[in-house]
Amino acid sequence: MNNNSSNMMALAPNTSNKRETVCIFGTGDFGRALGHKMIQSGYPVVYGSRSTQISNLIPKDAEVLSHAEAAQKAAIIIIAIQRQHYNFLIPLAESLHGKVLVDISNNLKLNQYPESNAEYLAQLLPGAKVVKAFNTVSAWALQSGTLDASRQVFVCGDDMEAKQMVMNIVRALGLTPLDQGSLLAAQGIENYPLQLFPMWKFPILLSFGLGVFFFFYCLALSVIYTYVYEKQDFSFFIAITIPNQVCPVMALVLLALVYLPGILAAIIQLYRGTKYRRFPDWLDKWMLCRKQLGLIALAFASLHVLFTLVTPIRSYVRWRTSVGIISQAQNNNTEPLDNTNAWLSDSYLALGILGFFLFVLLGITSLPSVSNSVNWREFRFVQSKLGYLTLILCTAHTLIYGGKWFLNPLAYKWYLPDIYMLSLIVPCIVLVVKFVLVFPCVDKPLTQIRQGWERTPKYSE
Ligand code: NAP
Repeated sequence: MNNNSSNMMALAPNTSNKRETVCIFGTGDFGRALGHKMIQSGYPVVYGSRSTQISNLIPKDAEVLSHAEAAQKAAIIIIAIQRQHYNFLIPLAESLHGKVLVDISNNLKLNQYPESNAEYLAQLLPGAKVVKAFNTVSAWALQSGTLDASRQVFVCGDDMEAKQMVMNIVRALGLTPLDQGSLLAAQGIENYPLQLFPMWKFPILLSFGLGVFFFFYCLALSVIYTYVYEKQDFSFFIAITIPNQVCPVMALVLLALVYLPGILAAIIQLYRGTKYRRFPDWLDKWMLCRKQLGLIALAFASLHVLFTLVTPIRSYVRWRTSVGIISQAQNNNTEPLDNTNAWLSDSYLALGILGFFLFVLLGITSLPSVSNSVNWREFRFVQSKLGYLTLILCTAHTLIYGGKWFLNPLAYKWYLPDIYMLSLIVPCIVLVVKFVLVFPCVDKPLTQIRQGWERTPKYSE
């Protein structure tokens, strides 16, 4: 669903004090909540119901009439009734001719019917002007006034004038109409409230899978291996040591996975010599959830920072430090300062701090309120250039951490590389291929392809 701010209609002040009567078919939860809100906003409301008896639940100032009588009183009729009952409207076709019918219905499943409910309503009553609206607002939110998160109302319809009338009502209720175009958009609008974090599913599943794999990998090498070969119980590593190994690895791998699809897309475009052929579906989906992958990576990086900050107060670390000091005292020797080690340790920390700082900056610029205030070039600069810089810094941070161990056989317990070595595979591949892609001999044809040039044009003159 495109809720781009460019579609957002500016709030226009309503100059007229007198509002036109609005008719609502159905005195159920939504009909009552919407009627209540409309009366508060100054609209006279008349209900069309199967029963004209006034109940306590119905807003005090509203009239309740039969459907046919109520329809005569207003130009706009809101159908607050489930789709499966729409057939009752057919005998009312004459009274509803030329009226604006607002379909607010939702379904229980995605794409439950072959056509949207609004299109179905338009088919049943071809003489009416059907507009889809309000389905993303809940009765509870309308009634309780807690509309902060859902002020946006998607509106679509084939009749421009009818759509404008409905959007005026939406604005008068203090909500923001988003014009989604013709009635063809209704299916998407009806599917919208049924989606459960659609863009987050793949990143969360991937992170969960990778996280579990890395956790057990560390458990095997840090706890089980030590127990089997050295008879030492380091099971307490599960609380901080292992999470502090898994979190940075996850952060780095996920950050690299944000940039990998762009690299693959570039390779595919270079191979095909055109940008006019669709990418495989999996790559399209991957590219669409890069922001979510990046935000999860940032969450892991933040956890890594927190776990690292508590290191000095851990009893295991304090014990190791004091054992080291006591053994130096007992042997009456002081280890000299190793300058190389000091350099490595400080560079490792500095790269980590800078990498995390840029990571946070990337996260902040991905927030809609920030990304909406920068232009496309600025956004690309931050997300692409600063993003790659973050990846370089974080990869260097990891390389310095374990670089000297790469060639040491002791680092390969059970012939397996340590986890930080695994974590470097994807980032290094991404950085090396990106390095190749920026060479002029590769970058030039790629830029031309992205500007529309084709190696073998499909439509030659
Ligand atoms: P509801 O409480 O079940 O009310 C539906 C109303 O439809 C009934 O009160 C009844 O009104 C009327 N009705 C029921 N059977 C009928 C029939 N056979 N013929 C004619 N009218 C009939 O449902 P609701 O929660 O208000 O939802 C109404 C519509 O709004 C649905 O399409 C729903 O998808 C949509 N919606 C609801 C919400 C929400 O938060 N509830 C949010 C967005 C959209 P009378 O007794 O007055 O005739």
